[in-house]
Formats: sequence, C-alpha cells, structure tokens
Amino acid sequence: MKPKQAKHLKRLAKLRKGTKHSFSTKNKIRQSLMLFYETVGKRHYNIGVDNPNWNGGIQFIPYPLGWNKTFKEQIRYRDSYTCQMCGCSELENIKTLSVHHIDYDKKNIKENNLISLCRKCHTKTNYNRKYWMEVFS
Ligand SMILES: [Zn+2]
Repeated sequence: MKPKQAKHLKRLAKLRKGTKHSFSTKNKIRQSLMLFYETVGKRHYNIGVDNPNWNGGIQFIPYPLGWNKTFKEQIRYRDSYTCQMCGCSELENIKTLSVHHIDYDKKNIKENNLISLCRKCHTKTNYNRKYWMEVFS
C-alpha cells in the first residue's frame, strides 16, 4: 500500500475529530478486549485477588490516629536516620527512609514494632514475611 502523506493524514484526523463510535462498534471493542483479558491478558495482569501477593485487601484499612509525618520522623530519629538492615544513611539514599511495621499490622504503632528501612530493604521485606518477622523480633 502506498504510504499516506502527512497532509492527507492530518485531514483525515480532522474529519475524525468529534465523531463517536456507534453502539455496535463499542460492543465489538468491548468484546474483543474482554476476550483479550480472559486469555492473553490474565497472565500479565494478576490484579487483586488473583495476585499471589494479595493480602486480603489490607490497603483499604486506614492507618490509626497518631500515624503521621512527625511520628514517623521520630522513629527515623531514634534509628539515627540509618537503615536498620543494610546500615546505609538517609543522605546516601536521597529518599527518606521508610518506617516498617515488624508484625505487618498497620494498627500496631508501638515504637518497638517500628523500624527504619531504606526503600531497597523495605521492598525485600514484602516477600517471605514470616522470615522477616523473626529477623526483626
Ligand atoms: Zn537498607
């Protein structure tokens, strides 16, 4: 096929602007997308309950009162702004240290349940949770 000239494509785009898909076209698109997600897509998009790391939707549980910037800063200060796993400082990290819940319970904000970790180490603690609970306690 002869390649279309830029001028021609621009004119086509202008004509297309503001037009809407008909109901049947929309349905066709919807069905082909659904088919895609049911077959090919599922392997790549394990979202929510299908994901092996799904924890029962705990991200929807709010943090308790008192869990705020100053509180987290206090924990970082207690750990003298160093990652308690690899020992690197906040300055080396550029980004602020994460405050990690040792027992993975968002509601438990006692100081002995919290620890400062750099982002790299904090990511590691999201897998093999039982092991990390033993390491920090
Ligand atoms: Zn670290």
